[in-house]
Amino acid sequence: MSSAFREAVIDLAAVQANVAHLRSLIGTRHTMAVVKANGYGHGAAPVARAALAGGADWLGVADLDEALALRAAGIDAPLLAWLHGPDTDFAAGIAADIDLGLSSAAQVRQAAGAALSVGRTASVQIKIETGLNRNGVDEADWAEVFGLAAAFERVGRLRVRGVFSHLANTSPADDESALLSFDRGLEAAATAGLTLDLAHLASTAAALRLPAARHTMVRLGIGIYGQSPFDDADSAALGLIPAMTLRGRVAAVRQVAAGAGVSYDYLWRAATDTTLALVPLGYADGVPRQAMNAAFVAINGVRHPVVGRIAMDQFLVDVGAVPVAVGDDVVLFGDPSTGAPSAAEWGAAAGTINYDIVTRVGSRVPRRYVGAPAKSAGE
Ligand SMILES: *Cc1c(COP(=O)(O)O)cnc(C)c1O
Repeated sequence: MSSAFREAVIDLAAVQANVAHLRSLIGTRHTMAVVKANGYGHGAAPVARAALAGGADWLGVADLDEALALRAAGIDAPLLAWLHGPDTDFAAGIAADIDLGLSSAAQVRQAAGAALSVGRTASVQIKIETGLNRNGVDEADWAEVFGLAAAFERVGRLRVRGVFSHLANTSPADDESALLSFDRGLEAAATAGLTLDLAHLASTAAALRLPAARHTMVRLGIGIYGQSPFDDADSAALGLIPAMTLRGRVAAVRQVAAGAGVSYDYLWRAATDTTLALVPLGYADGVPRQAMNAAFVAINGVRHPVVGRIAMDQFLVDVGAVPVAVGDDVVLFGDPSTGAPSAAEWGAAAGTINYDIVTRVGSRVPRRYVGAPAKSAGE
């Protein structure tokens, strides 16, 4: 146990093992580790290194700034960024050897112009719309956009390395229709004269349960962090190890009498005389305020309920008659095989999902890394 008052312990050996395990199940030629949003709250660069050590050969992020930060951290593995604003500086991405995910004819032109200014060929991957209705080129525009990209490729401004899309994970029928749409997109790319190295559609859920979606690469996010994307299978059922443990130490202990109100607005009152433990994490640290009177923590390995309003910096736990002292170990969530509540349980308590629970852990919570790969990869 560490003495930290509040911290997120990140087990990089778990990330490495999760990637290796997922790769053995999925078996695609390429594996992208998705490390957007600060590696789902775990820390993008350390997670990227662990994922590469586990066998990932691509990294994916949303914003170009996230990609540039990985390059600045010394990571030179293949890297794709796919969500851009109108003023995104593609030239900086091209100079840093970052693949640009492009979603429109305007972005294809913008990338080709930036490539000219940098004096290099831009490596790009075209995102196509197959049902999710976020970004991505509409089917009606595939011929135009692929034709434009092929023309820039012929003059050395672009290399169109791949075509990709993203699933809605709504129902087997909806996913099937997206898969068919993706196949039509690949045909349209071939018709335009493009020769692709990469075709990718599946994130963790489809990579595991929809083999037809795997193509040449899968993009694994939540699974590499040891969390399940499914309601009907937990981490252990998938052979995954949760990488993040959010923990702290009891900051105060107080005996209260039956009827005592607890925390703002007295939304919980002690039914009997009891003991309360104060935990020094709050919504500023990403603890969801909505989980009041529903979530559990483990103190010295024993589960106790969170009671009353979760405040900005702290919340209370009813420990009943169990002896608890200031400084005792509190785990909000971690690996359930250790007796800790899971991030998914906190998600259920707060009306959200495990993705949100781990990603929202705030910047005030120091990340402490354990199990770093012996030999750093991708740098
Ligand atoms: C976030 C994201 C992923 C990863 O999804 P998981 O469900 O976390 O595996 C893959 N692809 C795209 C485009 C994403 O935005």
